Amino acid sequence: MSVWAVLVAAGRGERLGEERPKAFVRLGDLPLLAEPLRRLDESEWVDAIVVVAPPEWEEPAILCAEEIGASKVASCVTGGETRVDSVRAGVAEVPEDAAVILVHDAARPVLPPEVVARVLEGLAAGFDGAVPGLRVIDTVKRVRDGVVAETLPRDELWRVQTPQAFVAPILRAALASPGAATDCASLVEARGGRVTVVEGDERLSKVTERADLERVASWL
Ligand code: C5P
Repeated sequence: MSVWAVLVAAGRGERLGEERPKAFVRLGDLPLLAEPLRRLDESEWVDAIVVVAPPEWEEPAILCAEEIGASKVASCVTGGETRVDSVRAGVAEVPEDAAVILVHDAARPVLPPEVVARVLEGLAAGFDGAVPGLRVIDTVKRVRDGVVAETLPRDELWRVQTPQAFVAPILRAALASPGAATDCASLVEARGGRVTVVEGDERLSKVTERADLERVASWL
């Protein structure tokens, strides 16, 4: 059974306020991309990796992979306008005989190895997809024009992270339909796919702002 990882790193990351795309902002001596790439490369569960880079950043992405000696990188492709477009570009590089596709955000650089194991266990249990998540501890309200429209039942709410694992043909079919989404699982869910949530990890929080980079650096 082969597991392919698609590492999406083609976002602009404007909220960081840097000239370069988020995946290429420095984290220590290396670009941010180096951290999730190294962790996927070192994962005993991952057989091969496709890196999705912003336009004109494909070359630096390949150099980054070479610099850290990542041996599982099969290809590096150009991302698209949205995250889903970037995932599509990456998945198109995965061979037809791959059994599982793991999609991970480069913006979540601190990937604990046990989370990869947990999402793969979810698939082994027979689900179409498995995503890491954390329970919501604050009360969440739907607000329109500054006025509360609804208070959601908190015991059913989870914050969902990546890596998200899918049975490869199911993810391909979900990506084939047009539609916007902030994660891959919602595309699979929209087609009736069964997705399980496994325990995520606080360290998988997304790097969005400067302070997030500092927090990630403190963990490394
Ligand atoms: O923009 P957001 O923070 O949701 O991005 C999550 C992940 O998706 C990041 O790793 C980012 O690089 C990636 N992305 C992408 N292509 C886009 C937008 C986001 O690969 N067009």
